[in-house]
Amino acid sequence: MPAYDFRSPRLFVDSALAPGAALPLDRAQTHYLTHVLRLKAGDRVLAFNGRDGEWETRLAGGRRGGALAVGTQTRPQTAPADLHYLFAPLKAARLDYMVQKAVEMGASRLVPVLTRHGQVGRVNVARMRANAVEAAEQCGILNLPDIAAATALPRVLADRDPARWLVFCDEGAELADPAAALARIAPRSALAVLVGPEGGFAEDERAMLLEAPNVVRLSLGPRILRADTAAVAALALVQAVLGDWR
Ligand code: SAH
Repeated sequence: MPAYDFRSPRLFVDSALAPGAALPLDRAQTHYLTHVLRLKAGDRVLAFNGRDGEWETRLAGGRRGGALAVGTQTRPQTAPADLHYLFAPLKAARLDYMVQKAVEMGASRLVPVLTRHGQVGRVNVARMRANAVEAAEQCGILNLPDIAAATALPRVLADRDPARWLVFCDEGAELADPAAALARIAPRSALAVLVGPEGGFAEDERAMLLEAPNVVRLSLGPRILRADTAAVAALALVQAVLGDWR
């Protein structure tokens, strides 16, 4: 792993990052730095915005709240990953967890997919984004994933680029070596991973998925996993066999 400072707190900001800039902090950020982390004026905070790389900043107090004084760049901007994660949305706390884990595992785009047996029909995109920001700050990546609006499964399949292989995690698939299943996909192909709802896929949804081109049906072993566990297991397999773990 490239060496970087993971002791200093890292903060995602919207503003441009350049030497000498002063970044105003919103109330939540000020609260986090001064009350949760108990930082004092002059303490070091790393900041990134998804465009300008990572910068060393110093916390500055101000009458109207906190700000960060930008110093020098600590890491140049890295290119975003390219791994789409498609999932049936879960209820609040499990969805928070799943979004955080997907970002840590390197997902570059999160697509909530509405299915017949899904328990959740509406997704709070702002909350998903807040979880994605938290995970990015924590794991040291310098990009945030895109977050798509929730989309029904037939529309996802109709709109999809068939050149992007779809790894379909199917608890109904025969138990088989997952690395061998993924090896059917040519290295460096664009990839998407799909995990279904706690209620499973309906038979016609499964049929629709299996008829689509460039779909690999993946078994995650002989146990039924909770969807949030399946997310981590599937993304780990894909990153290990085809992705940026190699
Ligand atoms: N209701 C289903 C389980 C759904 S688990 C049942 O009880 O049969 C939620 C999702 O996690 C599934 O749609 C699938 O995408 C994934 N998943 C869970 N266990 C899996 C396994 N052993 N193999 C492949 N995918 C799995």
